[in-house]
Amino acid sequence: MEPLKTTGIVIRTSQGKNSSLALSVLSPDLGKISVWARGARSWKNPMHSGCTLLSYGEFILLPRGEMYSLSSATPIRSFYHLRENVEKLSYAVYFAEMAGLVSEEGTEAGETVRLLLNTLHYLEQDLKDPQDLKVMFELRLMCTAGFMPHTEGCMLCGCDDAPVFSPEAGGLLCTACSPHRPLSPAALSLFRGYVEKGLKTALDAKGGDAATELAGAVERFVRHHTELVPRSLEYLHRIRNIVNV
Ligand SMILES: [Zn+2]
Repeated sequence: MEPLKTTGIVIRTSQGKNSSLALSVLSPDLGKISVWARGARSWKNPMHSGCTLLSYGEFILLPRGEMYSLSSATPIRSFYHLRENVEKLSYAVYFAEMAGLVSEEGTEAGETVRLLLNTLHYLEQDLKDPQDLKVMFELRLMCTAGFMPHTEGCMLCGCDDAPVFSPEAGGLLCTACSPHRPLSPAALSLFRGYVEKGLKTALDAKGGDAATELAGAVERFVRHHTELVPRSLEYLHRIRNIVNV
């Protein structure tokens, strides 16, 4: 078969025999694909730098049954500085794992790749607080994965004043329909902004205390609707507990 060229981001790597690497790559046009990179673990291999975790680049692939064999990898952006800080790297690995978990092979993933790349850029360059970035990323990822939270009034009675976020219901409720505590006005505004506004606006918003208020509920929202418990999330929680002691 003819080789094909695509861009993508390496979201997982595992070691194979003879210095080979098995990669999971998220590509805008091919979705999540499995790629076999022969010899790529060797420093001397020209594909080595393009095959590291979180590297975004251009790949030439040869179709081989249900996977692809890598012919060349040219890095465009390595996100190298994320490796210098264990907490930031833990966030990055979690973002990459989540992006992969909601993606499939053969289903285009342009919006997810764009979200992941921008999120990693803001994380690496310290342009947004990591916990705030996580809240935003999780909400946006859920939107691209088809679980957009309901933000147009109360999900149950339809009234306009709906300040309670119910992770289980998947959206906002009014205080008459929910026994739970309403969000503060700042958290409600941030929540709506992260769901409804453009990506650049969401990335540039400064969540502060409002993001901290939303963090637990948004994590429960992701877990409830995807039924996913990524290993990298447990690791991230452990790292954050150590770092923040
Ligand atoms: Zn209601």
